[in-house]
Amino acid sequence: MPIFFADNQNHPMTEKTLGIVIPVHNEQEMLPALAERLRHLSAELPELTEVIFVDDGSRDASFALLREMVDRQTGWRLISFSRNFGQQAAMLAGIQHATTDAVVVMDADLQDPPEVIPKMVDLWRQGWDVVYGVRRSRDGENWLKKLTARVFYRLLARMSEIEIPIDAGDFRLMDRKVVLVLSQLGEQRCYLRGLSAWAGFQQIGLEFDRAPRADGATNYNFSRMMSLSIDAFVGFSSAPLRLITRLGILTVMVSILYCLVVLILWLAGINVPGWTSMMLVILFLGSVQLISLGVIEEYVATLTIEAKGRPRFIVAYDSDKIILN
Ligand code: UDP
Ligand code: MG
Repeated sequence: MPIFFADNQNHPMTEKTLGIVIPVHNEQEMLPALAERLRHLSAELPELTEVIFVDDGSRDASFALLREMVDRQTGWRLISFSRNFGQQAAMLAGIQHATTDAVVVMDADLQDPPEVIPKMVDLWRQGWDVVYGVRRSRDGENWLKKLTARVFYRLLARMSEIEIPIDAGDFRLMDRKVVLVLSQLGEQRCYLRGLSAWAGFQQIGLEFDRAPRADGATNYNFSRMMSLSIDAFVGFSSAPLRLITRLGILTVMVSILYCLVVLILWLAGINVPGWTSMMLVILFLGSVQLISLGVIEEYVATLTIEAKGRPRFIVAYDSDKIILN
């Protein structure tokens, strides 16, 4: 059996294979509908030869349901973690285990409509290496999530050192060459959307309407969203650190001006009681310092985590009995 690499131009495109990676955390309500939609998709997409479910430490019946699903369908695989390691780790595990020429990552809750995948495959066949889904609309998400997402993607795009597309989530198709790059990265706190943009090659966006969650509940509360956003900033931008320096320079300048005012008032013999202004200054500078420390702490924490070099996930079960970690 000769081994073909994805960039081997002699390898005819028609024989190329596609896999789908799906991170799953407490999605028991969603799984039957998901299986149904995937079977539909396989019927119309002959390239689709592999589906990898990654059970990210679910506490409901997801694992049992997935085992049944995988048993019944050839080409479907299940990897299960020893505990909850987070969606990024789950996607990474799936990507690392994938054997196909291209991999699509999508959510289990059908918010990423599987109908978009054939369009992604078309673009891939035209030579694009990464086809990332761009959310044109987000139905069924509350205003706070929409607003924070809007601000976050735009702020990250402005501040990051590489070009990270706006409003692009994890739903994307990646050619094997990109998959290989991502599989080999050793980052603990990974932000796959950023890393897949960082990998380069030929990238294109494909607009789609993000559907509401069909069933079940979101796994992301505000603090998990914040923590993913922080990983994105720490991973792709030093701008927050530079911002602290700029803030410092600004406060020094304001302080000098204020010192002059205080001095002039003293020389003029005006004795201001001064308690209010004193409190304002103390509170303001105290907050600025604490926030700055917090920003630095995020970078230091990431350094510490990276330095420990622990595996990003632990596989407890693999339907193929291949344990990579
Ligand atoms: N997910 C996961 N591990 C987690 C949280 C979420 O594997 O710790 C999966 C989840 O099952 C879903 C996808 O990641 O397939 C997106 O999660 P969710 O729909 O809860 O996020 P939202 O769409 O609300 O941002
Ligand atoms: Mg969702």
